[in-house]
Amino acid sequence: MKIDISNILKSDGASLDIELNEPLEESTIALGDFIVDRPVSFKGRLVNAGGVIKLDGHLVAEYRTNCSRCLKDIESIVRIDIQEDFIEEDSNKTDEQYTYQGKYVELDKVIKDNIILNLPVRQICDDECKGFCPKCGVNLNKGKCECSDDETDPRMSILKDFFKGSLDA
Ligand SMILES: [Zn+2]
Ligand SMILES: [Zn+2]
Repeated sequence: MKIDISNILKSDGASLDIELNEPLEESTIALGDFIVDRPVSFKGRLVNAGGVIKLDGHLVAEYRTNCSRCLKDIESIVRIDIQEDFIEEDSNKTDEQYTYQGKYVELDKVIKDNIILNLPVRQICDDECKGFCPKCGVNLNKGKCECSDDETDPRMSILKDFFKGSLDA
């Protein structure tokens, strides 16, 4: 997502409206457990503020992931307001700053970074998702398992038997 900014570089205060609907670069579509393989849309503007290029706009990205409890496929959307600055590649920059080279601004990294910051840490398919039984691995959303009928902890039943034995004696 390279944007030609040669026109706004010529005069301080000049701006360029941008509207994009493009896929992320191949290398950036897998973000941890999240896949962003549909085109992302961005609408906003670039402004030349004394040689610093200011980006301001709104991003909408669809993503796929799996429920962290039951692994079901989930499709969802993040909507993000983005404000970032790009400084010229040669100037003294800190690691947090984005740069532009020549007459182009590259938006992929900014968009990727903002998506990562706004994705949930863990996603569940539903607040009520019961996940898998930790004992037998059955998906509890689809049905009950034997374990859930038996409330007794196995260690407790050994104790129970022990006490029962001592009472019988
Ligand atoms: Zn789930
Ligand atoms: Zn079970």
